[in-house]
Amino acid sequence: MINLILIGPPGAGKGTQARILEERLGLQQLSTGDMLRAEIDAGTPLGLRVKDIMASGALVSDDIVIDIIRKRMAEPDCAKGVIFDGFPRTVAQARALDEMIIDAGLKLNAVIQIVVDEAKLIGRVLERANTSAEKRPDDDPDVLKKRLSAYHAQTAPILPYYETAGRLQKVDGMQPIEFVASQIKTILGR
Ligand code: AMP
Repeated sequence: MINLILIGPPGAGKGTQARILEERLGLQQLSTGDMLRAEIDAGTPLGLRVKDIMASGALVSDDIVIDIIRKRMAEPDCAKGVIFDGFPRTVAQARALDEMIIDAGLKLNAVIQIVVDEAKLIGRVLERANTSAEKRPDDDPDVLKKRLSAYHAQTAPILPYYETAGRLQKVDGMQPIEFVASQIKTILGR
């Protein structure tokens, strides 16, 4: 069983890589963004609470996402190993995840930062907005700026959190998708 975290700014390719790992290594992708969008689409009270925050490009509160992940981790399909995509996004979430993992008797095998050239990211995300079948309201130039600044202010501090513990590994996210996937598989020893 392998549990890993993919970290990187919006457009770094976390979702793409998570889906590849899910398919090839039989791991379960856990994307908090997808889970929150599902709540919005289903019109649940939680969906209503987060809709405007997500549309603005800001992060939803730690309590909400930690609760979602805690419940999701208790489901049987997570026993095959999990790829965290878009979680944790704050130091508080990283600490909560460490506790959850210890409490469940599990191990975090790898924390992988997908390193990208941010000047080129904007183009990548906007291309996703134009080509994707499912439109995301937050793939818009102004909201993207806000998402990037949330990444720098709130998510980037988790890098030193994992780095000081010697847990952080990096891959070059500007390489072709297959090459990035093979770098990740090498880190995982697969
Ligand atoms: P993503 O699909 O990962 O880009 O997430 C889309 C949006 O969902 C983010 O811009 C946030 O508003 C929200 N979101 C997703 N994951 C988290 C998280 N771990 N913490 C806070 N907000 C999140």
